[in-house]
Amino acid sequence: MLHKLIKPFIGLCILGITYSIGNKIYLYYTHNKAPIVTIDGLKVDGYYKGSTEGKLVANNPYKIATTEAVLDGKPFAGIPSKMGSRKFSHAFTINTEQLEDGEHTLTVLSTDASRRANTSDVSITFNVDNKALAASFVETNYRIDQGKTAHIKIQTNKQVAKITLKTLNKVFSCTPCTPTSFSYECFIPIDCEDAPMQYDIAAEVTDHVGQSLKLSGSLEIIQFNFPKQRGFSVDSEKLSAEKEISTKDQVLQEALDRWAKESLKQKQWYGKFELPIQVRRITTPFGEVRITPERGRYMHRGVDLVNMPRSIVWAAQNGKIIIKDRFAMSGNTVAIDHGLGIVTLYFHLDSFTDIEVGDPIKKGQPIGKVGMTGYANGYHLHWELRVNGTAVDPMEWTETIY
Ligand SMILES: [Zn+2]
Repeated sequence: MLHKLIKPFIGLCILGITYSIGNKIYLYYTHNKAPIVTIDGLKVDGYYKGSTEGKLVANNPYKIATTEAVLDGKPFAGIPSKMGSRKFSHAFTINTEQLEDGEHTLTVLSTDASRRANTSDVSITFNVDNKALAASFVETNYRIDQGKTAHIKIQTNKQVAKITLKTLNKVFSCTPCTPTSFSYECFIPIDCEDAPMQYDIAAEVTDHVGQSLKLSGSLEIIQFNFPKQRGFSVDSEKLSAEKEISTKDQVLQEALDRWAKESLKQKQWYGKFELPIQVRRITTPFGEVRITPERGRYMHRGVDLVNMPRSIVWAAQNGKIIIKDRFAMSGNTVAIDHGLGIVTLYFHLDSFTDIEVGDPIKKGQPIGKVGMTGYANGYHLHWELRVNGTAVDPMEWTETIY
């Protein structure tokens, strides 16, 4: 009975072994896929310090015979050259202290054990940052008039991941002065109604490997005696007519708030800002205190510039058109984003040139003509400059290179 079963069993075994060997031989001759090998644990363009762990991982249909690891063009001994299996996860260590700070590339060439010796390579570029972080304010104590801009600079000993500044109960972030600079800057608007007193500036500098430093400085706001004006009024019939044909003023504020958050992350301007018309007279300076029947007491948060009716108005600096619309108060309005939260506004235009929201615009490029649309009782350009949503004296930006 038993021997009757043994014979077919042996037969099946021989068949199985033959099939398996045949299949292996077949695969050996025909396998033609590049090996699937990955480097895990290191992030592309990531930053590392000290001893850094990574893994070479394979999950390949065919056995990997050898790997050849190269770090910055030189053989890397942390990964063995003989592998001999289809699946592996080989941990390796890079001692970054033996490397210079900066960019490095690890490349691994893998070859499988098939007759074709298929190959693939995988590489990863990462950064080493072993330098102890150092940073300081270029100036520690700032004294700034109400309505002006505080330009705060911090110097570091390398490129860092993030610098935040806290002052006036707000949080600001600094950006590098040029893309590769170790100098970082931040523009802090001083509202014309910010209380004149001393405020702390708390800065936190964080590098790419998580080290951080805290710096402290101070900001003293100096009281500025803004001029006073009385008796300004706009014909009420004109105002109600403006309201009928215009987009609601609230829409302008909402759009500006939204754009303040979406401002271009890089400085679009260079040099000073230019006055946007040829100025004959400045009829109302920045910060003038007004009392009007429509608005009560308020401060004039721009400058009123006068030339002939319908003279050309141009962009004060390079940027992007973010608003082009008609509003009851500001009339025909253009807003330009210059990056880093700096926006200029042009009110009461008679007409627009051929510009659209989203268009890039160059300093000096015409955007419209001087008018008296909106809350205006004569032809003039109301020009405003806002820093992170707060209007500051734009004249300072035409005199200073930021
Ligand atoms: Zn004005």
